[in-house]
Amino acid sequence: RDVQSTNLNTIAEEFIKLSYHGLRAKDKSFSADFDTDLAPDLPKVEVVSQDIGRVILNLINNAFYAVDSKAKELMAENGSLGNYAPKVTIHSRLVDLEGESGGVEIAVVDNGNGIPKAIKNKIFQPFFTTKPTGSGTGLGLSLSYDIIKMHGGDLRVKSKEGEGTEMIFFLPIKEKLQ
Ligand code: ADP
Ligand code: MG
Repeated sequence: RDVQSTNLNTIAEEFIKLSYHGLRAKDKSFSADFDTDLAPDLPKVEVVSQDIGRVILNLINNAFYAVDSKAKELMAENGSLGNYAPKVTIHSRLVDLEGESGGVEIAVVDNGNGIPKAIKNKIFQPFFTTKPTGSGTGLGLSLSYDIIKMHGGDLRVKSKEGEGTEMIFFLPIKEKLQ
C-alpha cells in the first residue's frame, strides 16, 4: 500500500463509468445520466490511490443507488418518471487555503431522495444502512471516512430531503499519512 502521486480527475472519470456500466449489467432497468465537471489544472495529491479510489467508488455507488431508488419509486407510484431525470455529477476543484498549500476537493452530487434529518448523524457509523439485506453492508461511508481522515482530509455531507445529496471530501496537497 504505497503512496502515489495521484490525479483524482483520472480516478473520478474511470470510476463513474465503471460504476454506471456495472450497475447496468446487473439491472437492465437501471438508467441515469452522469457527468463530470473536473478542474483541468487539478494538482496531484500524495495518497494511497487504491484507498482513495475505493472512497470515490463508494460515493458514486451510493449516488447511483439514490437516484435509481427515486426513479423506481416514481415508476411504482405513477408508472412514469414525469419530469424526473436521474443524474449523478462528480466535481473536482482546487481549494486554496490562506498560508497553506491548499488541497483538492471532490464532490459527488445526486438528485435522489436525499438523507432524512433523523439519520444524517448516523450514516458514517459502521453497519448503518437503510438498504434491504443484500444491497448494502453499511460500511461504505464509515470506511470512506476513515480513509479520508488517515490522509489528513475531511469528508462531509450536504443533503436536502427530497432534492438530493452532495458528498464532499477534501484532501490536502501535501500531507504525511498518519
Ligand atoms: P450502504 O451503502 O451499504 O447502505 P453506506 O455507509 O455507504 O452503506 O451508506 C449508509 C447509508 O447512508 C445508506 O444506507 C443511505 O441510507 C445513506 N446514504 C449514503 N449515501 C447516500 C446518498 N447519496 N443519498 C441518500 N442516502 C445516502
Ligand atoms: Mg454504500
